[in-house]
Amino acid sequence: MRSRTSVPVVARMAADRTGPRGWADPNYTMLGKRASGCRQRPPAGLDDRRPARIDRPHGRVPHLRRYYHDDRQRRVVPWSRGLRAAASTSKGPAGDGRGLSLASLRDRVPCPAHPQRNEHMDQHDHRSLGNRLDLFHIQDDAPGMVFWHPRGYAVYRLLEDYIRGQLRRLGYAEVRTPQLLPRDLWERSGHWEKFRDAMFVVDAGDGRQMALKPMSCPGHLQIFNRRRRSWRELPVRFCEFGACHRDEPSGSMHGLMRTRAFEQDDAHVFCREADVEAEVSRFVGLLRRVYAELGFADCAVALSTRPPLRAGSDADWDWAEAGLAEAARANGLDFTIAAGQGAFYGPKLEFALRDRLGRSWQCGTVQLDRVLPGRLGTSYVAPDGSAVVPVMIHHAVFGSMGRFIAMLLEHHGGALPFWLAPEQVAVAPIAREQAGYAATVVDGFAAAGVRAVLSAGDDSLARRIVVAHDEQVPVMAIVGAREAAAGTVTLRERDGTQAVLRLEDAAAVLAARR
Ligand SMILES: [Zn+2]
Repeated sequence: MRSRTSVPVVARMAADRTGPRGWADPNYTMLGKRASGCRQRPPAGLDDRRPARIDRPHGRVPHLRRYYHDDRQRRVVPWSRGLRAAASTSKGPAGDGRGLSLASLRDRVPCPAHPQRNEHMDQHDHRSLGNRLDLFHIQDDAPGMVFWHPRGYAVYRLLEDYIRGQLRRLGYAEVRTPQLLPRDLWERSGHWEKFRDAMFVVDAGDGRQMALKPMSCPGHLQIFNRRRRSWRELPVRFCEFGACHRDEPSGSMHGLMRTRAFEQDDAHVFCREADVEAEVSRFVGLLRRVYAELGFADCAVALSTRPPLRAGSDADWDWAEAGLAEAARANGLDFTIAAGQGAFYGPKLEFALRDRLGRSWQCGTVQLDRVLPGRLGTSYVAPDGSAVVPVMIHHAVFGSMGRFIAMLLEHHGGALPFWLAPEQVAVAPIAREQAGYAATVVDGFAAAGVRAVLSAGDDSLARRIVVAHDEQVPVMAIVGAREAAAGTVTLRERDGTQAVLRLEDAAAVLAARR
């Protein structure tokens, strides 16, 4: 059987050695040989790889061809083509200086014989998706630090606003605490002694040492301590999207999953011992609701107990471990014991989700603590007038925002739910004549709170649909002469289903969609 595409390509190649996009294509000769039946030899250095796919374009000689996804061309192209391009020029196909390295090509070719090597190659790995969907990047000279691109940060803010609304409804007051706090405070809290290795320390101009906060707890205690609190005020609930820094070993960095700078949907509840079970139940209810809404049906739960390096008395730990286990059982949580994995100030329940490689990552957490309030002089006035140290419950639903976005990307293969898509609708005029109406449609959607972009340009409509699909834009609004005349749009979903609606109705329908 003859390849349907090879002949016209070869004919065009013979006539012109310039590539379809105008860039000099060093592969034309090689591609011509392939089309005429010569067998490709694997380039030096990559001959240990096995073919990703066997193709028989001519029915005579089995051709070993390999493919990878070219991010700029947004399609799968033969591996040899990109490889030759990378080897012969430092510039990429777009001439933008971002040439394809051999390493990047290796990363993109799945190796079925060695699944462990595919760690860097899976197209649904959040790092691949982050690159392909233009969401974020991490560069070698700033390991563990994330550069969020406009599309990625749009997702970030949507998720942040979502959990902020959930916490506000449950009575949490949002606060903001400093990034840098003095060494003295970290010494009193116990972080300096127990957590010093993970802290970034800077010398302030006045000779004092300051540290970037690795967590927000001591800051929230400062707010609680600022005035006398009566038992009648409890529980007091604070939340903060706290930007934290931890000096993790460079070898443990892993995309968005493990970074040195991250933000948590951090919350602290100050309450009486009698309130612990009810407060943990409120949190577990919130976590279950949020995870279910975001598509995570279940997660693994572990009770992390006292670590060797810890603060607080054994009596504190006995009370906290028993209390947390009891609260977990009361909520029907089936948990395992992670011995010695607790925080230095208290035990924790950890809620872990799995990535595409089957590895567990802690996302949600709830921790019971009487140690930090005791160390930092926190108390409330009990009914009998005595000063009592409150219980501090630390919790986060997402944990690290970046890590949770990574889980979402991998879970949904990049096709985020409609309400989380950075661009929800791509408005595509069929011809130039409808450009004005298409702009009106974009404005109409924007006015209804729908994130819409214009998909115009010289590409054919079919090509623009492919591009929007590759960029995981959930809906296309196609407008031709008929739509412009009637004031309607044709909405095209990811699965290809279409519906014609009046513009106002389409905007209302999309605005109401979750
Ligand atoms: Zn905390």
